[in-house]
Amino acid sequence: INTARLDRLISDLCQINRKKVKLILAQKRVYVDGAIATDIAQLVNRFSHIVLDGDVLQANQAHYIMLNKPIGVVCATKDEKHKTVIDLLTEQYEQEILDSLHIVGRLDLNTSGLVLLTNDSRWSERLTSPEHKVSKCYQVTLENALTADYVDAFAKGMYFSYEKITTKPATLLIVSQFEAQVMLTEGRYHQIKRMFGRFRNPVVALHRHSIGRITLDKLLKDGESRALNISEVTSIN
Ligand code: URA
Repeated sequence: INTARLDRLISDLCQINRKKVKLILAQKRVYVDGAIATDIAQLVNRFSHIVLDGDVLQANQAHYIMLNKPIGVVCATKDEKHKTVIDLLTEQYEQEILDSLHIVGRLDLNTSGLVLLTNDSRWSERLTSPEHKVSKCYQVTLENALTADYVDAFAKGMYFSYEKITTKPATLLIVSQFEAQVMLTEGRYHQIKRMFGRFRNPVVALHRHSIGRITLDKLLKDGESRALNISEVTSIN
């Protein structure tokens, strides 16, 4: 989360110069997250709760949620036919919060596992932008037996003629005859299914268990969610 000095933020929010802000702070008229703030250099961010003379200047609460997406639930905010990931959160979150959320890296309808949702777009950009190469880890179950050839092919990359791109180096670990773990640093359309498709080997089950250092909580059953803890939120930095 980007930080700024308190005097600068108040100056921007209220359109007053920083000399005046310094005076206002000295007069103990400002509260940050419930505590009187007097230090002009205190670091705040756009999710800090800031009050001046009893008026709320800024109150944007950041939300970071992990969800164990079941098969058959769609990664969209609205859908005519299927239940959406947002529909799974209606008991815990108010509509206003639900409306503010976006999905960080979608999963296909028939893929299960870790989905992250947030209203903090700077945070999600950090996880999805190509230059940060955040790895996403998937457990894959295949219809046919795996061979060592797969490892090289995934590492080398595959040319997708529709997009005219070569996939970035991916790591494939053979877990058992029909099971692999795949780590991707990008997310092309149906990428894993298409990569195994090159070997004419259909994916029968696909489950994402981590994004960067954020791992799906084993206590979350299908369709359950929880807020990320602070170490998970900051693990992306
Ligand atoms: N690759 C796929 O094919 N589907 C997903 O949902 C994620 C990665």
